[in-house]
Amino acid sequence: MESELKSLAKKLQNKEISPVELLQKSLNKIDLLDSKINAFINVDREQALEAARDSEKRIQTGKSLSEYDGIPVGIKDNIVVSGRASCCASKILEGFVSPYSATVIEKLVAKGFIPMGRLNMDEFAMGSSTENSAFKTTRNPYDLQRAPGGSSGGSAAAIAADYLPVTLGSDTGGSIRQPAAFTGIAGMKPTYGTVSRYGLIAFASSLDQIGPFTRLASDNEIIYNIIRGSDPKDSTCLPDASYKPPAYDIKSLKIGVPEEFMENVSPEVKKSFYETLDFLKREVITNGEIVNVELPHQKYGIAVYYLIATSEASANLARFDGVRYGRRAQNAKDLNDIYEMSRTRGFGSEVKRRILLGTYALSSGYYDAFYGKAQKTRALIQQDYLKAFEKLDLIMMPTAPSVPFKIGEKTTNPVEMYLSDVLTVGASLAGIPAISVPGPFENLPVGIQLQGNYFSENLLYDVSQKIQNAFPAKRPALQ
Ligand code: GLN
Repeated sequence: MESELKSLAKKLQNKEISPVELLQKSLNKIDLLDSKINAFINVDREQALEAARDSEKRIQTGKSLSEYDGIPVGIKDNIVVSGRASCCASKILEGFVSPYSATVIEKLVAKGFIPMGRLNMDEFAMGSSTENSAFKTTRNPYDLQRAPGGSSGGSAAAIAADYLPVTLGSDTGGSIRQPAAFTGIAGMKPTYGTVSRYGLIAFASSLDQIGPFTRLASDNEIIYNIIRGSDPKDSTCLPDASYKPPAYDIKSLKIGVPEEFMENVSPEVKKSFYETLDFLKREVITNGEIVNVELPHQKYGIAVYYLIATSEASANLARFDGVRYGRRAQNAKDLNDIYEMSRTRGFGSEVKRRILLGTYALSSGYYDAFYGKAQKTRALIQQDYLKAFEKLDLIMMPTAPSVPFKIGEKTTNPVEMYLSDVLTVGASLAGIPAISVPGPFENLPVGIQLQGNYFSENLLYDVSQKIQNAFPAKRPALQ
């Protein structure tokens, strides 16, 4: 399939369309549809238009910053852009305007991309449906009664609704892959440490990664290669010299499928998954094989993830105290009162639940039993993967156990919501790359997840493209 980014780039460079016209097309679609879909918290119209006018001047005068100069990119509300509001879809950060830009934004702007808007998300990226946003619930463009997934639901819905060609999201335990699966698009969670987290408002620092959403895996790869790279401002970001993508022969790939996880997967998802495997075996990996893989500690993934993520969140979110950032409660009597009232009013219930859980898991007397044990089990989950990749090139499983669920279906039962992450948290805990691409589907999208060894993004993208060429996703019917 033809790259959407390349064909847009060509039109811009040949002056068939100007950056302002292109942006205006996006804005028109947003004006038409977003009162129903709610992907954007805020479009940042004026700032985006100003950037588009600058880009237009560059193209007119032959000074384009790259072939992609003038292409708009939508930004999740937890990635900061200088001079623009950013609030992680939380009331506690209302009114906060960032004095600097995230490294990923600087890299994109250096190539002429135009950052656009604040895309809706679960508050502080905690959730799997975007229903935890303090402002609005994003809807799935394929069925407005259903969730677009989360926490990057706004970023995913914006691509599915064809507002713009690229958005950025963040994935801590599945928040890029699961919304990509629910909205029939491609979403990559890169190898931990290959994309700078500088300017990503932290949820769980040892897990958080920024990654792109696009319709096509090939376009996703273009953006990934622009945003990745070492960064002196993020000490967990790896040096460029350590980035060693594997060499492989696509025909001889050996793919592992953890069959034990297929038991709790819905029939529609199973059907799509096995059809994809059949296709790969028949047409792509003609000299390779598909085998069962055992990942014995994966069953502890959800428990480990929700202990580590909440522990790190309880520490990271301590900085939101009503003094340093965003909103401060009025009428407080003293300093403690400021903290208490600001946090009580500013955080939503899921964020409070996680702060409580994490604080408890880290408290003296419980630390070894909960956080300590979770860290040890995390190491075992990682070792299972490394052992598997001694013999395998890829591991495949569905991205989510079901097709998009209905809005409201899981909000009263947090554990039920947490269980929707069962297939994504493993790769996050191990730090390995994982992508979701659409498999074949009738009405509601199904995501196929490919996980690989560290730095194997090139392989994941390559196989994903083959899948997308064979099963081009049907677009949602929107008007
Ligand atoms: N759904 C998971 C959670 O609620 C993952 C979120 C994420 O990846 N940001 O924590």
